Amino acid sequence: MLRRQMAEPVHEHNDGHADLLVVGGDVVTMNARREVLAGGTVAIAGNRILAVGRTSELRARHPGAAVLDATGTVVTPGLVNGHQHLTGDPLARSCIPDLLPPGASIFEWSVPLHAAHTEHDDDVSASLSALESLRYGVTTVVEAGTVAHPHRVAAAMARVGVRGTIGTWGWDIEQGPYAAPCDEVLDRQREVVEAHPPGGLVEGWVTLVGHDLASDELLAGAADLARELGTGMTMHISPTSSDPERYLARSGRRPLVHLRELGVLGPHLVLAHAVWLDDEEIAALLDTGTAVAYCPWAYMRLGQGVARMGRHAEIVERGGRVSLGCDASNAGDLADILRAAALAAALARDVRIDPERFGADTAFELATVAGAQAVGMGDRIGSIEPGKLADIVVHDTRNVTWTPRGDHALHLVWGTDGRTVRDVIVDGRIVLRDGHSTCIDEPSLFEAAAEAQASLLARAGISVPHRWPVVPAD
Ligand SMILES: [Zn+2]
Repeated sequence: MLRRQMAEPVHEHNDGHADLLVVGGDVVTMNARREVLAGGTVAIAGNRILAVGRTSELRARHPGAAVLDATGTVVTPGLVNGHQHLTGDPLARSCIPDLLPPGASIFEWSVPLHAAHTEHDDDVSASLSALESLRYGVTTVVEAGTVAHPHRVAAAMARVGVRGTIGTWGWDIEQGPYAAPCDEVLDRQREVVEAHPPGGLVEGWVTLVGHDLASDELLAGAADLARELGTGMTMHISPTSSDPERYLARSGRRPLVHLRELGVLGPHLVLAHAVWLDDEEIAALLDTGTAVAYCPWAYMRLGQGVARMGRHAEIVERGGRVSLGCDASNAGDLADILRAAALAAALARDVRIDPERFGADTAFELATVAGAQAVGMGDRIGSIEPGKLADIVVHDTRNVTWTPRGDHALHLVWGTDGRTVRDVIVDGRIVLRDGHSTCIDEPSLFEAAAEAQASLLARAGISVPHRWPVVPAD
């Protein structure tokens, strides 16, 4: 297949001039034929991929283009993270105890932290998350819901150079930071989406907390708003048995059945988690084209029952839309989608005791082309093909992790994680080079984060309990 591909003419989007050539890597295209171009080149014009093909031909055709030498590397599409909290947790990374009863990490820790976040905290926190994402080759991030300052978060994402969505955390419960009556919540959602129109580097999405923290009126109104504005919607549902229990008590129906009755489900919606589903809920998900963001590390880390209850591999096998996610810095921790891809494949096999199920190639699809489709951006990102946006990752192979080299799919999913990412291009721009940001000063950001953490924890009234005694020794 490789030889046949290389003998074919260069695939080119139009007759334009390339601004940048990524030269000489093994290009894992994730195109319809899943071709890998050995020692190939990607030509980029503006923010789009102009051509993908033979190095000699593209170099000759575009002599004036800048060159990113990718000789000997593996070049992949930018990875997609379908659910990531950019604020709240990043400044409290590894601070929330890991042995807590269900819900305590959210309501005793995350909620007070969110309530105490300043605009500056949101900016620093989102900058850290965006940088971490790029560091692991993630170029598109669906933001799981900022509480107070979405515009600062959007600005931070754009400054660091990551693509993604932004939302403000909507809920109309009685108490909680920035909880408000339904109309007010919807007005705020509209304002965020209109400020960051669909199709931009950072686009506004209708973003509810979800769970059991919204009235039927808000759930239905949010879905209507997303449809009206032509944008996406995301919310949390059923990572544990708690949401099914509460929905059954409140409506007599399980969550996805209830959401279907309200008209909330549909292609515009990405449900985070959807771990505890029954057969009827899976049918509702598939029938309506609703997508899921699957964050396996979070469920395992929090002991939520994914190995027993999760059916995400089945959803994929039945044609459902699934992306991977890393959730939060204290639930899934590293924003490393390759690590999540490996776990997704491993779980799919182990729960069925079936070593022939769900290969590395399928897992890598969830991280790229299928994940892009799940978050509604399949026409723009997820593969290296002419006409798509130029979101590209260069994986360094001159290290022990990649030596000696094996099959591309197996090596990407099982043989490595995001830590060998060397360069990242988003929207045609090199935003990470040799593992470091080209857009921001990393040491200044790290200093600002340490300062912001101390002040945030003090304002939230949280002192971090240490598992081991820390003894002054100076
Ligand atoms: Zn979440």
